[in-house]
This record gives sequence, structure tokens and C-alpha cells, in this order.
Amino acid sequence: MRIGIPAETRPGETRVAATPETVKKLAGRHQVLVQSGAGVRAACPDQAYEAAGATIVDAATALGADMVLKVRSPDAAERAQMRAGTVLVGMLNPFDSDNLALLAGAGITAFALEAAPRITRAQSMDVLSSQANIAGYKAVMLAANTYGRFMPMLMTAAGTVKAARVLIMGVGVAGLQAIATAKRMGAVIEASDVRPPVKEQVESLGAKFIDVPYETDEEREIAMGTGGYARPMPASWMQRQAALVHERARLADIIITTALIPGRKAPVLISEETVQAMKPGSVIVDMAIEQGGNCPLTELNRTVVKHGVHLIGEPNLASLVAADASALYARNVLDFLKLVIDKEDRFVIDREDEIVRATLVCADGAVLRT
Ligand code: NAD
Repeated sequence: MRIGIPAETRPGETRVAATPETVKKLAGRHQVLVQSGAGVRAACPDQAYEAAGATIVDAATALGADMVLKVRSPDAAERAQMRAGTVLVGMLNPFDSDNLALLAGAGITAFALEAAPRITRAQSMDVLSSQANIAGYKAVMLAANTYGRFMPMLMTAAGTVKAARVLIMGVGVAGLQAIATAKRMGAVIEASDVRPPVKEQVESLGAKFIDVPYETDEEREIAMGTGGYARPMPASWMQRQAALVHERARLADIIITTALIPGRKAPVLISEETVQAMKPGSVIVDMAIEQGGNCPLTELNRTVVKHGVHLIGEPNLASLVAADASALYARNVLDFLKLVIDKEDRFVIDREDEIVRATLVCADGAVLRT
């Protein structure tokens, strides 16, 4: 099979879907076609791919392969260079039904890796986790870089500097890594989430959990989420959470927000009134900015200062750690390929396999999921 790895074209996207390490594992059995320069922003030069057994080609040749490995979904120009019958594997956004319709219309068989179920067998191919982990780390790095004070407590001859107080909103994969990273830097951390099991995880990392008690069985049941993901909480709970968060935010120096609800707009957790109450020079990194943001004042792709608070709206934090983000993503992809390539090195669709079934979003000209 000819496997193509085109360069990513979306602005700000620096990752690549295969690295020399993963190409080496594919090259013995397939013809691997890497677009010239595809990995250069992820510290993977053409020569390293060639040494791993790939052929360096132009964009049209990589996109014209039997199977195309991507980070992001192809745009119109890329799609036009792909053939009907091509197998596409990437982070295709399974909730973007318009884009899936275009892929299906082009006769592409597409797998959206974000749609993999959160079961043990799928962990090695869990792109949401591998990338969120990196993004959570980088969010703290960006915040520390913008914040005009120290993170750890310091006792010096010139006096004592207090440790930074960090508030993490939403403690999934990104939030847990943000807590761990801020902790290593010496910050004092508080965190909030809707899901009950999170309290223990937060405390085990040495942070304080902001408890918003459930007042009804319905609230508790919704808070449990589905498949490990949160569901929108009732307005009554959100109001109680907002009141508590407002008080904690006044004391915070850095807030990292990561709260997401799959397929929906991100919940608003930090209101303008709360930003107004924060200390001058404090920093908010809104990791939910691509889904509308957890703070209505954050602006996509920009860092702005409002009411004396720095608001960072960087949508693609994993791309700022391109080499490691690509290394982990490429391993996720390689593991996924084991499910769709058989022992004779042929492409197969095993619809009995729940990971294959969940990730297969376009086949035979139709969208299989919206
Ligand atoms: P996510 O990116 O979908 O959301 C981030 C966090 O925001 C979640 O913890 C969510 O509960 C929280 N959130 C949503 N609404 C909120 C609100 N109003 N206030 C505060 N927080 C809010 O989450 P994720 O990183 O994908 O992780 C979700 C869960 O799945 C985690 O517990 C994670 O450990 C688990 N997980 C399991 C597996 C597996 O079993 N294979 C793999 C990956 C992740």
C-alpha cells in the first residue's frame, strides 16, 4: 500500500502525522511517501524520513496515496488532490458534519481518531489524551511566561516572595497535567470540575478541590457524565459553582480553564464580573477557546489585557510543543493502523471492532456519524 504523509496546511499547525520512528515501522511493508518539509517544524527533517525508508515527494503525490495520514482534516485544496477510495486517518473532528459530508462526497473513507471509545484497548491510540497532556503542560508554561512574578515561594535577603496561586477549571487530561506542572514549579493550586471522581485525583496531586456540593440526585447523576465525558450541568449548580469560583478567582494569580463538553459550546465559567475582581497582572489561559472559550473575554489567537488581566486565547497549544506532540500523535496513529491493516498488509474494515466502528466517519460515499 502507498501511505502518504502530507505537510499540514492549517495556519499555526506545526505537527506531522508520522515521524521517522513510525515511518521506519511502516516502510518495510508499505511505500511511505512523505511530502518534502512535512516534519520540519516538528524537528523531523526530510533526511531523517529518507533514512527511515520513506520517499520524499510533493504534496500531490502524498495526498494521492492509497492511505493518507494527517493531523487535521484536509482543506478544499487538499481534498481536491485526494482520490475517491483513499483512506484518510486523522483528527477530523467527528462533530463537524459539514466537513464530513465533503469528505464522504469526495469518496474518501475516513477515520476520526478523536471518536475512539475510552476503553483500555484504545488508550495507546487516544489522540485526545496525548495532545491534551501536552497542551496542559504548555498552558502553564505560557501563563508563567506572561505572569510578572515568580511561581514558587522564595525567601531572599531582600524579603519573601509568595508562591503563585493557580486555579484550574476542568480537570480532565489537560487539567491534571496543568496541576502537575504548576505543582512542580512551586505554585499553590486549587481546582474545580463537575465529575465526582476528580476530587480524589486533584488531592492526590497535592492540590485543593473546590467542592460544589450536589443538592439533588439529578445534579449528581448528570455530574457523573457519560463515557468519561462531562454533560452540561443544571443552571442551579452552575450558579453555585460561579459564586465559589468568583471568590477563589479573586485570590488567584493564574487561571487555566480546560472545561469542555463534547460536541457543544464550552461552558462559561469565568464571567466578566469575575475577571474584573481579579488582581492586576494576573493571567487566564483559556484552553477551551476553540469551542467558544470558558471566559467570554478571551479572544481566539490573541493575548489581550482586559481589566488588568492577561487573557491568552491560543487555540493549538500542542502545536507549540511540535516535536513531542508529533512523536506521541504518530505513535497513536501507528497503533490505530494495526486495526485497519491486516497481516497481508491490506486495508480492511472490521466493523465488529468497536474502535473501528466508532472512528469510521465516512465510507461508501456516506457520513456514518454526525
Ligand atoms: P474534556 O477535555 O472533555 O473536558 C475537560 C474537563 O472539563 C473534564 O474533566 C470535564 O469534566 C470538565 N468540565 C466540563 N464542564 C465543566 C464545568 N462546568 N465545570 C468544571 N469542569 C467542567 O475531558 P478529558 O480530558 O477528555 O477527560 C475526561 C475524562 O476521561 C477524564 O477523567 C480522563 O481521565 C478520562 N479518560 C479516560 C480514558 C480511558 O479510560 N481510556 C482515556 C482518556 C481520558
